Amino acid sequence: MAADDIFCKIVAAELPSTKVYEDDDVLAFRDLHPAAPTHILVIPKEHLTSLWEAKEDQAQLLGTLMLRARDVAREQGLEEDGFRLVINNGAGAGQTVFHLHLHIIGGRSLAWPPG
Ligand code: IMP
Repeated sequence: MAADDIFCKIVAAELPSTKVYEDDDVLAFRDLHPAAPTHILVIPKEHLTSLWEAKEDQAQLLGTLMLRARDVAREQGLEEDGFRLVINNGAGAGQTVFHLHLHIIGGRSLAWPPG
């Protein structure tokens, strides 16, 4: 656990969250400032600063995050109109919380390319 990481604190239940999925390795919860009708964050419970920092031996965890995000999107009824998975890597790309997270964004039409 990284002491100054708010998502580690959410994993440890030191901060509140609206959970939509949890298992031994993965937690999914609603974004505090939703950018769409459905906006959920999927995170590894273990601290990982960013995709950039991921190691080869974390390949299975990265794949699991993708699959659980897919499952959450399905449970939230997003499959018909589509949804987007986003990873912001680094401050220049908009990363503000330095604990790897996948954004699930859906429930409205989504423009491409993103800004
Ligand atoms: P980033 O900009 O890709 O790092 O995304 C961080 C996301 O975390 C933003 O969409 C924030 O709205 C969201 N966020 C920040 N703090 C919290 C919180 O305490 N609970 C839920 N979402 C949060």
